[in-house]
Amino acid sequence: MLFLSTRNEKIKVDAAKALSDGIAEDGGLFVPVDIGSMKFPVERLNKTSGEEILATVLTEFFGEGLFVGSKDVYSDFFSLVKRAYGKGFKGDYAPLIKSGDKYVVELYHGPTAAFKDVALQILPHLAIEAKKAEKSKDALVFLTATSGDTGGAALEGFSDVEGTKVVVFYPKNGTSKVQERQMVSCTGKNAFVFAVEGNFDDAQSGVKKALGEVELGDGVRLSSANSINIGRLVPQISYYFKAYSDLLKRGEINAGDKINFVVPTGNFGDIFAGYFALRLGLPIGKLVCASNKNKVLSDFLKTGVYDVNREFFVTNAPSMDILISSNLERLLYYVCGAEKTAEYMKSLKEKGRYEIDGEELAEIREIFDYGYADEDEVLKTIKEEYEERGYLIDTHTAVAVKVFEDKKKELSGATVILSTASPYKFSTSVLKALGEEENDEFKAVDKLEKITGAPVPDGLKGIEKRKVLHDKTVKKDGITAVVEEIVKTR
Ligand SMILES: *Cc1c(COP(=O)(O)O)cnc(C)c1O
Repeated sequence: MLFLSTRNEKIKVDAAKALSDGIAEDGGLFVPVDIGSMKFPVERLNKTSGEEILATVLTEFFGEGLFVGSKDVYSDFFSLVKRAYGKGFKGDYAPLIKSGDKYVVELYHGPTAAFKDVALQILPHLAIEAKKAEKSKDALVFLTATSGDTGGAALEGFSDVEGTKVVVFYPKNGTSKVQERQMVSCTGKNAFVFAVEGNFDDAQSGVKKALGEVELGDGVRLSSANSINIGRLVPQISYYFKAYSDLLKRGEINAGDKINFVVPTGNFGDIFAGYFALRLGLPIGKLVCASNKNKVLSDFLKTGVYDVNREFFVTNAPSMDILISSNLERLLYYVCGAEKTAEYMKSLKEKGRYEIDGEELAEIREIFDYGYADEDEVLKTIKEEYEERGYLIDTHTAVAVKVFEDKKKELSGATVILSTASPYKFSTSVLKALGEEENDEFKAVDKLEKITGAPVPDGLKGIEKRKVLHDKTVKKDGITAVVEEIVKTR
């Protein structure tokens, strides 16, 4: 499958280039040229394992561009998945549990205890295969803007991977202390971490600018480890199929039944993977976009107006503190076409606003529903879920659970909540929800364990003892200069 730019269908590249470049030359995002021709064998879902599902999805998207000349590309992807996840995940990468009248798929059992690991444990392997396919010896420098979780996961995935560098920019004071320590303690010799004086949107805009601006000498290329990179989205498609497969295997649903997903959303990457799953044939009723207090997306889905001219809040679900949701561009492409997408993106850049027309909004709403939860509702939801059902969730997952509670009367069929982070990653807020105060985040981890008895993920144990190895701060307009420096050093 080839990939084209969401802003210009004439810009077409193969899988290797889409993965290595991360973003199209016109600033658009890559999508497969013909999603309509792609199919997942849904009828086999009751007999397929999670790893097989992931290998099937990867083959469908990248099979024509990677492992060139191989006789059995599926087997190549399958062993790649085994290698990547065998190290990264202790058991099931997306266990499905039932809590009350909903299902929850826990996506946080990877090394950094958030769902970003599902893709970022694989992305470095895909990058290596892309380099092989292109017969390229160039160093690949992966730029990463993070609201907290992508940074740690990217560093974990790319640390000391030969032929790559990974550069992370996170908003100073915009992440949790646990998230920050995960990043600044990275020991990889190819890792660079910076705090940005600004919020996530500043970091993301700076990185996108650097991707277009930085002068590259011979032997080096820039890419992205953010969900603008198609290699980030594709692995995430797998857990939508896997959740369905688990429900089938347990007899909770029948083949063909439509199910819903509620997704805590920031950059619209995770939920967009759900849209890809739908286009590949998964029976989905609604994809429900759950926003926190920064509810630019739920407002958009309500009104058709996307407007970032509004106050930005630092909330207790910080990984969703985002106003410019990059991956919405991919949905616009499918609904409005490339030309209008380019216009909307131009308007967003120049005026911070665009408005889609009524028909376009109606088409989006056939699939997407929306809702939001403010900070107090998040805390209340955590408390209720724990006290009534004995189930401990983090603040991001709580946003989705609250939106599910609000919406469940309108949803038909089973509903799966995507649980995106371990409660221990946001211990202070989770403790507060349970009526306990502990402002030292590291102490809060121990206290939460004492109170609930829930196991602390391995990746977070002893986190406060890890040495700070990166302590540099950059101004938001200084990102390009920093990247230029890193690109120059060999
Ligand atoms: C990144 C993140 C989200 C939002 O996912 P998007 O793909 O950006 O929409 C939600 N929850 C957690 C814990 C995250 O790290």
